[in-house]
Amino acid sequence: MPSIVAGIEMGGTGCKVAISNENGQYDNNYSLQIVTTDPEYTLREIYEWLESKRSERPFVAIGIACFGPVDLDKTSKHYGYITTTPKPGWQYVNVVGAFKGLNVPVAFETDVNAPAMTEAALRGDSSAAYITIGTGVGVGLVLEGRPVHGLMHPEGAHIKCERFAGDDYAGDCPYHNSCIEGMSKAKAVADRLKISPNLLSKVPDDDPVWNIQAYYIAQLCASVIYLTSVKRIIIGGGLTKRNGLFEHIRKHVLQILNSYLDIPAITNDIDNYIVPSKLGDLIGIQSAFDIAQGVIEKK
Ligand SMILES: [Zn+2]
Repeated sequence: MPSIVAGIEMGGTGCKVAISNENGQYDNNYSLQIVTTDPEYTLREIYEWLESKRSERPFVAIGIACFGPVDLDKTSKHYGYITTTPKPGWQYVNVVGAFKGLNVPVAFETDVNAPAMTEAALRGDSSAAYITIGTGVGVGLVLEGRPVHGLMHPEGAHIKCERFAGDDYAGDCPYHNSCIEGMSKAKAVADRLKISPNLLSKVPDDDPVWNIQAYYIAQLCASVIYLTSVKRIIIGGGLTKRNGLFEHIRKHVLQILNSYLDIPAITNDIDNYIVPSKLGDLIGIQSAFDIAQGVIEKK
């Protein structure tokens, strides 16, 4: 049975915090969206909001789906921290510890693994990848029903990639320049058009830049398919709402695989293999609720 839980979607540009209803579902009346500023102020704002609402909505656990890299190793002294992020001021910030004072169990996952788990569960899939495309690019993995952590957690968006023919954009990853994220995140698309990323929604669907972006995302999909053999790839995030993007991605994936994998789920049914998020903008917060439910069940 679901319980009332709190969820926090920690993003590099904005954070969302919410308290679920009795069925573990999102309720617009109990949610707050804030801009991510410095860690102390941002985490305090979330903490105080939760504290102010708990008498009306007594949540019994908190789930945090967090931008990374993060430390998910429960035996590590930095468990629950954001670690080596390039985001100024956010290196080695103790996110889980910031909510200790609320005295409820806290579940902690990446902002891509948690959605991968929720999307896989919604579809009854035992394995799935969740790719997000927005300010950054990320990929979360669920294999055999479990989120992949390993040494840390997968960081597949930083895989090196092949250039789209004629694309001379240098790339915008501070570590690798032209990795997949560096070539396909919002700023990378905007830089090619010489506009600010907040104007991307005004760029028409038929602009060739979306096909170029899709080529890089398709390389990520192909790598995920070869390495993990997931049963589905779900793609979400701010840049996935435009028409035609999925068609471009699917077309490039089939070209990259070049019939090497003769799997009907991919070759005959790619429209159901590479799919948009079922929950759209709510996937982040719902996945935070879902990992909070998991921490109650384990108690
Ligand atoms: Zn990179």
